[in-house]
Amino acid sequence: MGIFGNKKHKFSGFKGDLSEQQEDRLQEFKDIIREEKLTQDPRYDDYYLLRFLRARKFNMKKTLEMFKKFLDWRIENRADDAIWIDCCPSMDKIKEFYEFGYHGTDKQGRPLSIDKPCSFDIDDVLAIATKEELYAFYVKEYETTVHIRLPAASTAAGRKIEQTFNLFSIKGFTMKKLREKSRNIIKLAISIGQDNYPEIMGRMLIVDSPLFFRGAWALISPFIDEKTRKKISILGSKYHKQLFEYVDPENVPVDMGGECTCENEGGCYFSHKGPWKEYPADEFGEAGKEKLLEMKQKEESKSPSSSQSSQSESEVGAGIPSFENNREVSVNMVNVDLEANKTNNEERESVPEHQQPIEKKKKRRASIFCCKKKRYESDED
Ligand SMILES: [Zn+2]
Repeated sequence: MGIFGNKKHKFSGFKGDLSEQQEDRLQEFKDIIREEKLTQDPRYDDYYLLRFLRARKFNMKKTLEMFKKFLDWRIENRADDAIWIDCCPSMDKIKEFYEFGYHGTDKQGRPLSIDKPCSFDIDDVLAIATKEELYAFYVKEYETTVHIRLPAASTAAGRKIEQTFNLFSIKGFTMKKLREKSRNIIKLAISIGQDNYPEIMGRMLIVDSPLFFRGAWALISPFIDEKTRKKISILGSKYHKQLFEYVDPENVPVDMGGECTCENEGGCYFSHKGPWKEYPADEFGEAGKEKLLEMKQKEESKSPSSSQSSQSESEVGAGIPSFENNREVSVNMVNVDLEANKTNNEERESVPEHQQPIEKKKKRRASIFCCKKKRYESDED
């Protein structure tokens, strides 16, 4: 802009593209976290903190408010353990009729998430899973994306990958699908993401949308934040040309018009295809390796045979930072409004694992990707 005729560069707020003022805000944010002893978790690096700053347009007061709430929420919902917990035992069954999952990456190396949220009846899901279980599952999914899929995608791409590519097929969408029960579940999933995992979605294609949906979108979209709106495209059934601009056909399942079948791995929605299978050692990324050690140590000390594991304990050694949050928040049950779902599930007796007291939990090594289609597993398993 101005006398040189150059357009003024608009800083994106991503690391490496920060204005002087944004740099200052990031430093201020880090100073406050240290001074107020909010957390010492090394996973909350510049990339992580910038997501919160961007989500609140670098307003320090609002960013801090969001981040403190997020830390409390993590404790209340045991988000640090979520990846390791089999939180929704019926997810295998749910995936028999509700297809979704991460499958490869887009051309930029961003994890590709595919979801068909209109292909099933919400009652069928709520008949076998409680709302708390679904909530815990969403948390697990987000945690896995942030701490496993994105770091692995970064390793594969050779650069930092911070966002995902989301493909939603809303084939079968009717107004009936938007009745209260479904709305509650959708709201649940969106609120977990918005409040606690901001700035993760890089691009979203909503495809197979009926004409009236596109009409409604045209009316609603002006009210959506411009940054978010620009990331979303609403398309009908002829979406493939646009999709393949972003994703190679080999990473798209055949039922979405691509070439992949994941034939020997139970199908595309069960295969967990992607760099996260090739780079299991990077489970938590560089900054999180110590966290992984700490969790292993915690598990070992809980198990009765902990005296035998002295070798690994001495390997772990001192120098591991404390991840305890300094503020006092009790470990509560998942905090969800249960009203809509009460009648379906109030007779259920078994307490989901994520709600059991920590001491009762058995030692369990990560079954990170919780959905494996049983019938494809070999008999030896
Ligand atoms: Zn596949």
